[in-house]
Amino acid sequence: MKVNTDLRLPADQYFTETPKKDLIVLHHTVGGSAKSTFDYWRTDVERIGTAYIIERDGTIYEVFPPECWAYHLGLKIGPMGVVDKRSIGIEIASEGPLMERDGKFYAFGRVAEQTLYSGEVFDAGAAGFRGYRYFAAYTPQVMAAVCELVDSLLTQFNISRQTPASHTEFDLNGLRNYSNVVTHCQLRADKSDCHPGMDWGRSVRECALRVTE
Ligand SMILES: [Zn+2]
Repeated sequence: MKVNTDLRLPADQYFTETPKKDLIVLHHTVGGSAKSTFDYWRTDVERIGTAYIIERDGTIYEVFPPECWAYHLGLKIGPMGVVDKRSIGIEIASEGPLMERDGKFYAFGRVAEQTLYSGEVFDAGAAGFRGYRYFAAYTPQVMAAVCELVDSLLTQFNISRQTPASHTEFDLNGLRNYSNVVTHCQLRADKSDCHPGMDWGRSVRECALRVTE
């Protein structure tokens, strides 16, 4: 697996302690390039970030060592950062939810020339998902990189190869002590990453995950 270390956070932007890791959490950024997300983290004072950002072309950026940690979940359960510490976060660079106007799609909740979206669209159907119907689709290159990275991290950190059947069902109570692979929206009811357009079956197959109830 090729990991790019060109975008590297200084050591005062994450916590250098190395707690035991037994969870992987997938996110999407709702942002521009991987670099723009990195630049934001580099200047924020809260030590927010994930060890990895995957660019739309499948490039995997490791922005700090995955043994370390930063805040990436925003859970209101104590003690502070308890799940952030034990988990490795992976951000997918993506616009996230899209707005539709006259057959065109716009990102970041704003109709403007700068927010016009031209990529593949995922339609969650009339019922929508967490309040949105349309999302930027995750590209095949991104999914290939996600699977490769998750598979590698599961081996490196000896994390159980299991996951809930759904990657979009909120179940914080059921999952807070679980060792596995989940997405952010399973831990937060107000988040829509990762949306139902993610090919979870592919992750299950390629990472040899056992599906649990
Ligand atoms: Zn997230």
